[in-house]
Amino acid sequence: MRINIAVIDGDGIGPEVCAAAIGALDAAGKRFGHELCYRHVLMGGAAIDKHGIPLPDETVDICKNSGAVLLGAVGGPKWDGLPGNLRPEAGLLGIRKSLGLYANIRPARLINALKATCPLKDGIRDRGIDMVVVRELTGGMYFGKRNTVFRGGAEAYAYDTEKYSVAEIERIARKAYEIAAARKNEIISIDKANVLDSGRLWRKVVHELNAEYPKTRVSDMLVDNAAMQLIKNPSQFDVVLTPNMFGDILSDEAAMITGSIGVLASASLGDGAFGLYEPIHGSAPDIAGQDKANPVAAVLSAAMLLKYSFGLNAEAAAIENAVDRVLEKNIRTADIAESGSQIVGCKEMGRLIAEAVFTDRRPII
Ligand code: NAD
Repeated sequence: MRINIAVIDGDGIGPEVCAAAIGALDAAGKRFGHELCYRHVLMGGAAIDKHGIPLPDETVDICKNSGAVLLGAVGGPKWDGLPGNLRPEAGLLGIRKSLGLYANIRPARLINALKATCPLKDGIRDRGIDMVVVRELTGGMYFGKRNTVFRGGAEAYAYDTEKYSVAEIERIARKAYEIAAARKNEIISIDKANVLDSGRLWRKVVHELNAEYPKTRVSDMLVDNAAMQLIKNPSQFDVVLTPNMFGDILSDEAAMITGSIGVLASASLGDGAFGLYEPIHGSAPDIAGQDKANPVAAVLSAAMLLKYSFGLNAEAAAIENAVDRVLEKNIRTADIAESGSQIVGCKEMGRLIAEAVFTDRRPII
């Protein structure tokens, strides 16, 4: 298969971790017989330096004409003084909007070799944590009508509106059903239906869609209970479907119980198979250019890219397994080092993972 990928290396550690992700993709391509083509485009600080704006039209066009986008990270102190619409982060919001990305997918899997990073009790974490949070990304309170009305003193007020249409709920729920079908066919849908009208509509639409996906078991959980259950019994979650704001909070909670910022991947999806894949961390200016960045989050983002945009599940699993196997040997970047770890830099970590993708032919788990 020919796989066209637009790469936004970005700023800070972005180019370093993207190079490692590309190394893993190339190794998977070599092993499974695919041709990978990359087009590197500018966004964020790098685009501001060259073109004076964070998101040039050419970048959007090339992304739209690719099968998927791999993004490192953007931003840094160099551009902090610019007005909001010219800051690197404006490029991020702009690209998500231009590409119609309304679903944010955040896997939270406790890598066995990194069990020690889990802050939960042994008895809880030993049951395993492996879930995917499917969060609606372009609706709800963050995009609803809002205002601050100043009337002097205690009369002043502010409001934000949580609003969801049937169409918005349906399209994100559909993503969750599709992702569940490739996993255990189980969805826990999060809402606040005991209080909010929008929550009751959310619940109704999610269940009505179940008729189209009869093999999937759907249950509901109130968001306050979900926040507790993630700590008490995280192994019960597989696919977690959430509105925007609840997902913002719960996906960070799920991330905290499964690992360090350097190992967590994410995807933003729109209609069809197209998606943008990026580590959840930022550009880490404090360690940029020092070969200290952990590339695992970017490498796992590349695995998601193969799985969700190209349907290449075995190839994605080969990359995930390669990460597990390198970490099992206690080879670590400094941010996740434990006692006795062999500490390596970003480049060497990337090289070892790529090597394991290509050479380690043990059965894919
Ligand atoms: P950050 O994620 O860049 O860094 C937070 C801390 O985690 C730092 O100490 C950093 O060294 C460490 N860290 C992050 N990723 C790491 C990795 N892969 N390996 C090892 N250590 C890692 O967050 P921040 O410091 O709040 O933000 C820095 C810049 O990144 C800001 O300009 C911010 O706007 C931007 N940012 C961009 C994105 C994005 O591009 N999606 C996301 C978040 C922040």
